[in-house]
Amino acid sequence: MSDCLFCKLLNGDIPSDRVYEDEHCIAFRDIDPKAPTHLLVIPRKHIASLADVSPADEAIMGHMVTRIPEIARNQGLERGFRTVVNTGPEGGQEVYHIHFHILGGRQMAALS
Ligand code: C5P
Repeated sequence: MSDCLFCKLLNGDIPSDRVYEDEHCIAFRDIDPKAPTHLLVIPRKHIASLADVSPADEAIMGHMVTRIPEIARNQGLERGFRTVVNTGPEGGQEVYHIHFHILGGRQMAALS
């Protein structure tokens, strides 16, 4: 989508610090990190949010989830990490191109 920030980032129109890429997804450092390591994993396909995922996206969603452990390990997160998907206005989503946050490098508080 031409007006999507992460589609522009995928095209190289917006710079990013990529740490992983393959034919279906990329991972890059969040520009405003909330933890010592804060990565975003996004599909090359434009999917607006988790609420917009369809059965046709099963393979791509599975692909991304199964890449996350390797991406996290390669960034030194052997002791664990948090994965977050903000969805919709009340979910705190700001960029409408689905993304997994990977946060690590410090102790995460329990969800209360
Ligand atoms: O889940 P949410 O939509 O709020 O997250 C969007 C994330 O995208 C934010 O953490 C923000 O810092 C990040 N971002 C980025 N690079 C940009 C624009 C936003 O890493 N150019």
